[in-house]
Amino acid sequence: MPDSHLLDPDLWCALSFLDQRARLADAIRAELEGSPGVQEVTIEAGGRGGEYDLTVLLQTDVGKLRTPLWSHARATIFCDPSVHPANRRQLAPALAVREAADRLRRRLDVPYTLESRGLTLQLSPEDGVERSWTAERSLFRNRTAVTREDRVLDAAPDLDVRDLLAHFYVGPSLRLVGPDGQALLLPESIEVEGPTVSLCPSCSRWAEGAHESCPSCGAAVDVVIAARPPRR
Ligand SMILES: [Zn+2]
Repeated sequence: MPDSHLLDPDLWCALSFLDQRARLADAIRAELEGSPGVQEVTIEAGGRGGEYDLTVLLQTDVGKLRTPLWSHARATIFCDPSVHPANRRQLAPALAVREAADRLRRRLDVPYTLESRGLTLQLSPEDGVERSWTAERSLFRNRTAVTREDRVLDAAPDLDVRDLLAHFYVGPSLRLVGPDGQALLLPESIEVEGPTVSLCPSCSRWAEGAHESCPSCGAAVDVVIAARPPRR
C-alpha cells in the first residue's frame, strides 16, 4: 500500500519537513525491499531556498549511491492551492519515489566479471538496452582499451542510425563529416541523472524542463541538468 500522504496534496502539505522526508525514506525503503546491499536510506534536503530539491542517499554495504528525487519547483506547485488538484497530483512525490527507486535498482546489482585480460560489467540503463563497459589490457596483443557498448534490443528496423547514435552519445557537440563531405551535427549530451532546467541569459529567468525558448521572454535558452555538487 503506497503512503497516501505521498499522493494527496492536502495530506502531504500539512506534514512537517522532517515527517515528509521520513515518509519518503520509508517509501524508497519499501520499493527497494529485497534489493541487495541496501543498508540505510536517507533523504537529503537541497540548499537554502531550494530545500525540496531532494536527493536519495542510499548507504550500501560498499558505499553511497545518490539519485535526485524531487525538485523544489515541483514541491512548490504541489502545495499551491491556486493550481487545480488534478494537475498537482501529477507531480506527487509518490511518482518521484517510483522513478528514483527504478533508477537505483538498475544501479544496485550490476554484475561484473574479472578475467586475466580485463573486466566487463553489464547493466540496463533503460528498458530494452544492455550496456557493457569493458576495461581490457592485453600485453600479448599490445592493446589497452576501455569501451562502452549499448546493445539495443528490438530496435525498429526503420530507425535512423543517426538518431540512435544521438540518443546514446555522451560528450560535447561534434560536427560529423561523411565520406561524401556531407556534414551533420551530433548534439552535446551530458549523462547525469537529474531534472533539466532551461536558463534564459536574456531575462535571467529559469524554467523547469527542456524548453526550446524562454517561456517568459521567448529568447534562446540553455538547457542544463540540475545536478548538485557531491557532498561527503
Ligand atoms: Zn527570458
